[in-house]
Amino acid sequence: MVKKSWGFATLAVHGSGGHDPQTGAISVPIYQSSTFAFKNSQHGTDLFSGKAEGYIYSRISNPTQAALEREMAFLEEGDEAIAFGSGMAAISTCIFTLCRSGENFVSSRTIYGGTHALYIKVMPRLNIGVTEVDATDLNKVEDAINDKTRFLFIETPANPTIEIIDIRGCAEIAHRKGIKLVVDNTFATPYYQKPLTMGADVVVHSATKYIGGHGDTVAGINIGFKELMTEMRKQNLQDLGGIISPFNAWLLLRGLKTLPVRMDRHSENGMRVAQFLAFHPKIERVWYPGLRIHPQHELAKSQMTNFGGMIAFEIKGGIEEGKRVMDNVELCTLAVSLGDCDTLIVHPASTTHSSYSPEEMLANGIKPNLIRLSVGIEDVTDIIEDLSQALKHI
Ligand SMILES: *Cc1c(COP(=O)(O)O)cnc(C)c1O
Repeated sequence: MVKKSWGFATLAVHGSGGHDPQTGAISVPIYQSSTFAFKNSQHGTDLFSGKAEGYIYSRISNPTQAALEREMAFLEEGDEAIAFGSGMAAISTCIFTLCRSGENFVSSRTIYGGTHALYIKVMPRLNIGVTEVDATDLNKVEDAINDKTRFLFIETPANPTIEIIDIRGCAEIAHRKGIKLVVDNTFATPYYQKPLTMGADVVVHSATKYIGGHGDTVAGINIGFKELMTEMRKQNLQDLGGIISPFNAWLLLRGLKTLPVRMDRHSENGMRVAQFLAFHPKIERVWYPGLRIHPQHELAKSQMTNFGGMIAFEIKGGIEEGKRVMDNVELCTLAVSLGDCDTLIVHPASTTHSSYSPEEMLANGIKPNLIRLSVGIEDVTDIIEDLSQALKHI
């Protein structure tokens, strides 16, 4: 049995309900089954009508997926979670649950490139309006809301500029206006930030990142309160079909057990690398919420318990110098994604955020000399030495 008094690390290890009652297996089994047998025809009828609880078909639910969902609901302090095949499936299903054709939502403008692509490519075809605003200014958020607005969407810390949005401030505005607040908590994870305890209605995750933590799974998870999550599962998960596979759910359950220890190391390394970059003569600017020079350091401290491994930095020079740094790292891997054990380095303007127009990029702080670093859990001296030698080439 899970105890309320347990701390985060204990919950991360034990929260999913302990040993398999049938076999004593310590690891939740991978229920690699598409369908589940009814005991008799009445049982089938009862399962379909909701009179009996149980499994029917793995597009609706699966025991390995259910264990992951239980665990994530504990960790984010929500009632229920739903796991998806990707972060984008989680985000799109959340949008379709909250918004219909003819309505709109307001989003922070500096967000994951794929989310922005969903806004500009898919939403217009469905006649769902999206207003992207500089959400570091709460007045702009409030001004963008009209009587057809159904929710606010924010990502904090934001990709790729590591800007921080005030969760409590956005929740206050949303609820005063009678709409919902959705927070993408991918960068912080529930270990460092619990938006539902600060007024958010739904938390979305790309579990591909820190939750999985090993760069071997693509997955997403939404967490929230009973009524909305039931609607999301019934009306949208089942029909849109963006479910997670039992094997990937198992990989995430495995990842969750080490989430707190990995995050502690990501943060420790992140702070050391950020400090190194902050004093480097070839660096113009470093964005890391744990540094006092981050413009929202105080806000970050008020809603996060630590700062993780995501850093953005602007080098002296432009696109050519940026490429030279990228082409000379030896330990850091040139790859999109983040939150892996390995340190990953990426040039957002030419890759992850190329869905933005050049004007939008500049307006959103995605400069051509901006490099994003997902600091891994290697020996930090090796990461610093690698960056140091790569920066000598500019
Ligand atoms: C990666 C990412 C996503 C999309 O998740 P996928 O698992 O790649 O579909 C959404 N939000 C943020 C902040 C991300 O980093």
